Amino acid sequence: MRQGIAASPGIAVGKAYVFEEQEIKINREKIDKSLVDVEIRKFKQALKTSKQQLQMIKDRVAEKMGEQKAKIFDAHLMILDDPTLVDRVETKIQEELITADHAVDRVIRELVAMFENMEDEYMRERAADFKDLGKRILKNILGIPILSLMNLEEEVIIVAKDLAPSDTAQMDRKKVLGFATDVGGRTSHTAIMARSLEIPAVVGLGNITEKVNNDDLIIVDGNRGIVEINPDEEKLEHYKKERQRYLDQMDELKKIKNLPAQTRDGHRVEVSANIGTPKDVEGALNNGAEGIGLYRSEFLYMDRDSMPGEEEQFEAYKYVAEKMEGRPVIIRTLDIGGDKNLPYLDLPEEMNPFLGVRAIRLCLKNRKLFETQLRAILRASNYGNIKIMYPMVATVKEVREANAVLEQVKRQLDEKNIPYDRNIEVGIMVEVPSTAINADIFAKEVDFFSIGTNDLIQYTLAVDRMNESLSDLYDPYNPAILRLIKNVIDASHKEGKWTGMCGEMAGESRAALILLGMGLDEFSMSAVSIPSIKKIIRSVTREQAREIANKVLAMESSHEICEYVDAKLKQILS
Ligand code: PEP
Ligand code: MG
Repeated sequence: MRQGIAASPGIAVGKAYVFEEQEIKINREKIDKSLVDVEIRKFKQALKTSKQQLQMIKDRVAEKMGEQKAKIFDAHLMILDDPTLVDRVETKIQEELITADHAVDRVIRELVAMFENMEDEYMRERAADFKDLGKRILKNILGIPILSLMNLEEEVIIVAKDLAPSDTAQMDRKKVLGFATDVGGRTSHTAIMARSLEIPAVVGLGNITEKVNNDDLIIVDGNRGIVEINPDEEKLEHYKKERQRYLDQMDELKKIKNLPAQTRDGHRVEVSANIGTPKDVEGALNNGAEGIGLYRSEFLYMDRDSMPGEEEQFEAYKYVAEKMEGRPVIIRTLDIGGDKNLPYLDLPEEMNPFLGVRAIRLCLKNRKLFETQLRAILRASNYGNIKIMYPMVATVKEVREANAVLEQVKRQLDEKNIPYDRNIEVGIMVEVPSTAINADIFAKEVDFFSIGTNDLIQYTLAVDRMNESLSDLYDPYNPAILRLIKNVIDASHKEGKWTGMCGEMAGESRAALILLGMGLDEFSMSAVSIPSIKKIIRSVTREQAREIANKVLAMESSHEICEYVDAKLKQILS
């Protein structure tokens, strides 16, 4: 049994598919003259295979994610026909009597160096295309399988070091039963993605990729954070039963998913979903979301080689607003930096990216980018109930500056008679301790708060949210976190404003009970968690929850808090 971090609920039983790159070993020995033609043929065949593979991926991406995303592959396809590459490799094989793989490796290195030294930023970025493509050609020459989650032949559980957004974006959802990864925490990309795709997942397992072989039978228990490798009959039976019990429980919960999130005595709160792409709206609605509490707009900017234009953004925001039919949709402005990089922005390397130029800081330094996004959001606000939210705010000055840009964009739209919601609400994420402490000051400047506990916990406790070896310290129930949250909620209410939470904590049963008692107005979470959180809210009275929260706020340790609340939860749900 391997213990990791429970990242996405559910139990999966199935065959393992180890998604790990095999090392490329170049053969650097000289070849005999008589073998030149053989090597050239190998190279040409590899080019042909690469082209077929890329065309297939391109078609698949176009079908699943739209033509725009598929265009990324055009650059690669063009390079494959480029004589600079083809002629150079052939000449090297002929003149230097080296293998096809050696020649490709050398030529790609030369081209990468040449592009990396270019003045023009766009050309510099082409270096990455050559590197990527070089790897593909080399693998095809050497017969190394190219792994992709796109063309899975059977149902599998993916075992990987970590999964990149591009891996999960191309993945064939129907064939993936579960995830098990070496790295990551509850708020890492893989975890958030697994929850939004409703795939059971355990992350932060340390070295699961070394322990599991392809086709091993494995069990991923995403409820308890456990992975079993080649279990015996008894264990297998046990988990099959557990799995069925979990599915029955989910079916039961689904019955209440569309009922309002209100306490037994009629106190109404809002339970919403976090989404990353417009497509996630479907899952949100299927699980009974009463709104979108966090639309992570940065996904629109990632995995591509140029900025999304105003029209493209407008279409995405409008789609979500319309699909939600008047329910609130909170669009978070670009939250990039930290672990999320945009190659085309040419961001400087930073010693501490999580404390660096990210989110609102980056937007205020790149006014054009920020204005474009705000214009797209404002225009889309004409088609639904959109609210704007700035991420990673640390000072009041930032809010004022961002609002000044917003006002300027509104004036531009007015001049052109372009309609938008004139009463659009503007709020901030509370994810930096300074903002949580100064919530009373901020409450006068904004329409609402949304507490981003994923970051608030890491900054308050000085614990990297991605570091699995510190996951014990990354604790939402540390009294410091609970006190900060209470401070934010109270400060907003004093000014007649409201507070939501869009960090993963809002979707935890234990936390939900405490937060409800503290007076939280909106709970936004991965869609899968919505039915179970609604169930808790609907099972208590406001007074009961308030009493529990008050007791918790007087406690001194996380351990004491968790024990107490878990016992209460058991009582309430029995
Ligand atoms: C957060 O920090 O709690 C949050 C919701 O934002 P993200 O996870 O995207 O940093
Ligand atoms: Mg955050």
